[in-house]
Amino acid sequence: MSRRMEKRTNLHHCVPKSRNGKTNSSNLIRKEVKKHEAYHTLFGNATPEEAIAIIIMEWTTEEWRNRFVREYEKRIERLERLILPYTR
Ligand SMILES: [Zn+2]
Repeated sequence: MSRRMEKRTNLHHCVPKSRNGKTNSSNLIRKEVKKHEAYHTLFGNATPEEAIAIIIMEWTTEEWRNRFVREYEKRIERLERLILPYTR
């Protein structure tokens, strides 16, 4: 990659340092600086799991959320049927 094409990167703590997230490879990911800043602008110090909850609760309509929950329940029911023979 040419020098001009290189993107500036830095490290992001998946579990924030302020919440006892460790500074080691199991908790750090390298991100493009612009995207890293955008993440914290949108989600503050939320973990990825909390960021997903923020997207679902703040960026969708109630109708969309209800559909999402119904589809999720159908997926869980399918998985439960699939594992049934192995749980007897
Ligand atoms: Zn970060």
